[in-house]
Order: sequence, then C-alpha cells, then structure tokens
Amino acid sequence: MQETKTIQKEITIAVAKTEEKPMLTSPDLKGHFGIYGGKYVPETLMSALYELESYYKKIKKDKSFWDEYNNLLKNYVGRPSPIFQAKRLAKYLGREDVKIFLKREDLNHTGAHKINNAIGQVLLALKMGKTRIIAETGAGQHGVATATACALLGVKCEIYMGRKDTIRQEMNVFRMKLCGATVIPVDSGTQTLKDAINDAIRDWVSNVTNTHYVIGSVVGPHPYPVIVRDFQSIIGKESRRQIKEVTGRLPDLIIACVGGGSNAMGIFYPFIKDKDVMMTGVEAAGEGLDTEHHSATLSLGRPGILHGTMSYLLQDNWGQVKGAHSVAPGLDYPGVGPEHSYFKDMQRIKYVAVNDEEALEGFKMLSELEGIIPALESSHAVYYLKKIINDLPENALILVNLSGRGDKDVATVSNIIK
Ligand SMILES: *Cc1c(COP(=O)(O)O)cnc(C)c1O
Repeated sequence: MQETKTIQKEITIAVAKTEEKPMLTSPDLKGHFGIYGGKYVPETLMSALYELESYYKKIKKDKSFWDEYNNLLKNYVGRPSPIFQAKRLAKYLGREDVKIFLKREDLNHTGAHKINNAIGQVLLALKMGKTRIIAETGAGQHGVATATACALLGVKCEIYMGRKDTIRQEMNVFRMKLCGATVIPVDSGTQTLKDAINDAIRDWVSNVTNTHYVIGSVVGPHPYPVIVRDFQSIIGKESRRQIKEVTGRLPDLIIACVGGGSNAMGIFYPFIKDKDVMMTGVEAAGEGLDTEHHSATLSLGRPGILHGTMSYLLQDNWGQVKGAHSVAPGLDYPGVGPEHSYFKDMQRIKYVAVNDEEALEGFKMLSELEGIIPALESSHAVYYLKKIINDLPENALILVNLSGRGDKDVATVSNIIK
C-alpha cells in the first residue's frame, strides 16, 4: 500500500512535468506519449515487439504496401465511407442552424471501423512472413473483423474469447467459425475480455516466430497503439477532405465514443494540429459514475499498467484492475489507449461520459429520425449531442463518428425497451 502511494506520487509529478512540455504528435523512441505507453512485457516478447516496430517503420514508407491496403479498403471494405448531414436530428434537438455530419463507418463491410485495422495488421503480418494470426475479442466485433481479414487473405486464424462472452455473443462466435477461424474459449479469471487478452499474450510468447497477434484497439505495448492509430486514421483523413468539400471549412467539434479508443483516435488524429477543432471522447458511464458499474476510464481512472502499456486504468486502492460495465459491449474495457491519456493530460481532447439509459435514447433517436440504427457504442456519441447542443455557437459545424451499425444490438435493445 505504501509502495502504491509512492508510485502514485511519482506519477502525479510526472503528469505535471508532461504538461509543461510541447505537445507530441508521435511517441518518443521507446513508445512513450509523455509518461504513457511503453512496453511493459515479458522479456520473450521484447524481440517480437522490436521486430514488429522495425518492420512497420520500413513498411510505413513502402508505397506498394499502402497501395495494396488502400485497394482493399476501397474494393472490399467499401471506402470511402460517406459523411451524411443529419438534418432531422438537428431540427429535433432544436438547432436547425447547427450542421451535424455523421461519418458513416457503419456502412463498412462487417459493420464497423474495426475492419480497417484488421486488414492492415493481417497484411503487415503476411509481409513479415508470419503464417498464423491470433487475436482477442470481447463482444466478438474484433474477432469477426480479424476472421474476415484472415479469410480474405488466406491465413490461419485463432481467436481467444472469454467463456462468458462466447455464450453472450453466440452469433459472433458462429460468424468467426463461418469465416474459417478457430474460437478458443477462455476459462480463467472473469472469463471476459481482459482474460482473453492475457491468454492471447501467453500464446504469443510461446509462438512468436510464426505468429502475429492482432490487437483490436489503440492499446497494448508499443508499437501497437501507433500501428492501430495509423490504420484507423483513414477515418479522419477522409472526413477532413469530405467536410471541406461540402462546407468549405473544418468542423468546430468532433465527437467519438471511446472504448479502447481506436475509432476516436482514427477520426481525431488527422485534426490534432488544427487548434480550432475541438474534440470530445465519450466514455460509457454505464449505470452511473457514482456506481461500480461503468467504463469511464479517463473520467475516473488513475494511471497504471495493464496489458503491456501505461495508461489511465480503472483500479482499486491496491492497484487491482476493476471490472468494467457498459450496455455497449465494445466499450466494456477497464483500460484505454495511452495516447488518449496523454491528450487528456495535455487538455487537447476533452473526455466525458454518457450512461446506459442515455445511450439507449441516442440509439432510438437516430433510428427514428434518420433511419440509421447505430451501434450502442456509437449511440453514446450521438446522445452527447443532446447534452451540449444548446451550448454551441450559431451555425456550428459538428462531426460525429458513427463507429458501427446497431444490427448486432437489436436483440439486446428489444429486451430492455420491450
Ligand atoms: C469495438 C467498438 C468500439 C470501441 O472500440 P474503440 O477502440 O474505442 O473504437 C466502438 N464502436 C464499435 C461499433 C465497436 O465495435
């Protein structure tokens, strides 16, 4: 306990020091965003991470790799995804003058943004000569995206999934199997996402020579947060071009939901240097921030280490990781990407939380008003509009990342609202 207090004090001092330095848009050579990030892994993984890092550095400058990747995004995923102006939503919220644009990641093949990263990483792994892909999945969205990418590119795929999640998300298990993947149920711990990640890491330690581990968000040890952000930043790059084309200017505010933080970092990152563009990440307040059942890592967590990276983390007084909760399965993670932690401390991005009930209202609102059924995760970002719309200046221009479609959530919602 004494030790924990000392560490906490050191972290507080380090955070204060970070804030005095100029803002970084890339991590330092060891993969730190200020005090966050890094590689906190067993020795056997260090060489695999160095291999990945040096290979990625090379590939980042390799035009033929990006041509191949962009070709798949276009002809397989269906990119660019459009931006759509939600006029009826703006009118319903009492502000017809405000332009709300939705970035339609829900229209991607497999129904969300996760495919952008899965295809990128599997392609990268094949270039590195790997013959086997593993991944973790919680709700199954990342598992389905990875299994899809592996079927497309013809490589063996094994997905770790908590036993409880395999039961709750039966349809996604079946989808992965249809795409030829093997699903390995995990019986340790709480039998959910964080245990699945632990087992995937253990597998990777023993099979690093032929195996690549596809991480599903901007989390994990360096260089993962950078690689995933780069693949997802296609969302922000397209949005930047599209919104300029349609309105002649950049948005005043960008809103995205935050689980691990990949769809948010993907849309935010290409605007990070535009000082006049404000950004808000919306976490899940679950049953309320005053309860134990939420996933508001940046709002209520403290810096700590989980799954190989230093970041904000939901933990108890003894530093043990707490369980997370959200009605949106994709937001249900006690950690968050290190780069988000950094931008929070730098006050470049604001982080707020929306609870289960509010998210359900966002879900219904967008379905009724625009005929777009959003994922429950994305519904958090949609509802946040209602909270702030009256504080916006006249003719404000807002961009909301609609990270995925809600078909996967229809059964859950119909059980709640009847
Ligand atoms: C997984 C998922 C999320 C949360 O993950 P991030 O890494 O925070 O983007 C959000 N929306 C959808 C639709 C998801 O499937």
